[in-house]
Amino acid sequence: MGMDGVSERFRSIRDRLTALGLFDGDSLVMLPVDGGRVVLDSAGNEAHTDIFDGLPAGMAVLTAGQYARRYAAGGGTIRASTDDTAQMFGARVRCVDAPAGDAPAFLLKDLGFVVTGRFENELVAACILMEKMCMACLLSPVLGGLKPLSGPLCALEHAVYLKKYSRPSRLASQGGESRTAPAAAVADLPQRQAVIEYGKRLVRERLIQATWGNVSVRLDEERFLITPSGVDYDRIRPEEVVEVRVADGDYPEGLHPSSERRLHQLIYQRRRDVGAVIHTHSAACQVFAACRQGLNAPGMDCPCAGYAVSGSKKLAENVAAVMAAHDGCVMANHGFVAAGDSLETALARAIEAEKAACGLLSAI
Ligand code: 13P
Ligand code: ZN
Repeated sequence: MGMDGVSERFRSIRDRLTALGLFDGDSLVMLPVDGGRVVLDSAGNEAHTDIFDGLPAGMAVLTAGQYARRYAAGGGTIRASTDDTAQMFGARVRCVDAPAGDAPAFLLKDLGFVVTGRFENELVAACILMEKMCMACLLSPVLGGLKPLSGPLCALEHAVYLKKYSRPSRLASQGGESRTAPAAAVADLPQRQAVIEYGKRLVRERLIQATWGNVSVRLDEERFLITPSGVDYDRIRPEEVVEVRVADGDYPEGLHPSSERRLHQLIYQRRRDVGAVIHTHSAACQVFAACRQGLNAPGMDCPCAGYAVSGSKKLAENVAAVMAAHDGCVMANHGFVAAGDSLETALARAIEAEKAACGLLSAI
């Protein structure tokens, strides 16, 4: 990247993090430039600091949101208690005086956190996830404390994330395409566009980040449409939305449906009244998830489904068992699922659950 590219990239990162409440006057951004690196302060001027010297060249940010700032004042290693943080960071994020080595994130006493990223979307997602981890650490005691995931499981999740799950997003950021050839015409275009639109709305509502979460809508008794796996929500094309059979989860060869398609499929199979299913990774619901606690939203009781690895048959079974009698469900160490007769209702329920979770956490 040359200096022009650096300024443009800096502005993009700063603006995105500012909109998320994750950038302030103390934030620093490191970017690669002409085989070396440059560190910029919050105004975009070159900063003379050695804070990133122990890191390999690449992109990095030092910043904090309200929770990270509070948590960093006390310090302490953070253990991953949700699948997304295990995927992004592995088993733990250590608290250090100066970041060093190739770990993707560090907590810095009194300062906030440093995250690295191979591409911009990953860097921004890492900031969101670090803030969510700090929020969970601070608020979890009232829910009985975090239930961290095991070290070996986190190591596996992290390896799968680096090699496989983040691949479409990474290739897209490098200008490479890892996509199916465009179909000449697709059936059910309005419903495909609705799935894409609701994915974007979930990002805007901050119920999901990066490529986590998924959205589906029923077409009829026999078929539903679901988002593709691991594709950035602003890049999903109608032909990448996948039609799945309700009876057995079958889908056309060559397409890549969400890894949670079985979870959606079982809900449609067991609940003929359900017309849409939304899976979120929203911050307050994830505090409940990290503590393996159910949640009571107004008019909606949302028990906690037992833990199973994301995308597994067991997870689909655990969630579908709860959703047989509920419209919302906390997924242990993972996130939230909402269902409704339409995408609108499912989204309203996901929003309502997140509001209720926020309210409960601040009230306790
Ligand atoms: P997909 O990108 O495969 O839909 O997975 C996201 C997710 O949240 C898995 O639980
Ligand atoms: Zn998920």
